[in-house]
Amino acid sequence: MALFGAAALLSVLLLLAGISLRSNRHEASVPTAVTSRVFAVRNFLSDVYAARVGGRVIVFDAGMDPDAHALELLLQSLGAELGEVSDIFLTHGHFDHVAAAARCPGATIHIGAADAEVLAHRASSRALVPRLFGTLLSVPALEASHRLEGSANIDVGNGEWVIAVPLPGHTPGSYVYLFDGILFSGDALFVGDHGVALASGGEAALTRDACRGVAQINTFFREHRITAICTGHRGCMETRGASRSLDALATGSGPNCPG
Ligand SMILES: [Zn+2]
Repeated sequence: MALFGAAALLSVLLLLAGISLRSNRHEASVPTAVTSRVFAVRNFLSDVYAARVGGRVIVFDAGMDPDAHALELLLQSLGAELGEVSDIFLTHGHFDHVAAAARCPGATIHIGAADAEVLAHRASSRALVPRLFGTLLSVPALEASHRLEGSANIDVGNGEWVIAVPLPGHTPGSYVYLFDGILFSGDALFVGDHGVALASGGEAALTRDACRGVAQINTFFREHRITAICTGHRGCMETRGASRSLDALATGSGPNCPG
């Protein structure tokens, strides 16, 4: 009986959260500059980033609004429109990071291959909550144009590159992207009290791919190429000396990494 009560309460809470998401998904903050070229907007609970690269505009994550109000506002701060976006780099396939991507008809959609089927609605998220909310928010299905496997350097024109590094954990196809000294981490990484940490996994063993990703990100830190981490929900944080806890996760074949 107690179990039934708890399940009923949980259902009501999920329903209320869904209603709140649906009525607030158009919300957008005033866009702010992260660097002289990268701008950010908060779309209700999700962060969306964009940068101008020569004549092109690239976007990191697309928020939770299928009508793309927040993304339009963000692009306005770059003097651009939805149709001018050349590339959208999705950190993972959850509803709250992909919704506006379908409104950019000219964009190449980059996403980890393991999340591409979720993006196209041919598979559902393993986790119940994103699956449920994706349906409630009517997030449109979207075909990936570039399914990422392993690390990749992606030419975005003007002699510049986005470096894509797989960091599975939050979802099987989670990626982080490095551009202009910023690591766009989606829901895979955040900066806590003791440095950079993986958002999920904790003490659990990491997959070989995740360990490889962590090691690669630490190399970027050591080369001083990362000045800020821009997350999926907590905005951007400076990273001065913040890679110690990541190092501990992936020292050689450390305790959290397989043989
Ligand atoms: Zn998220």
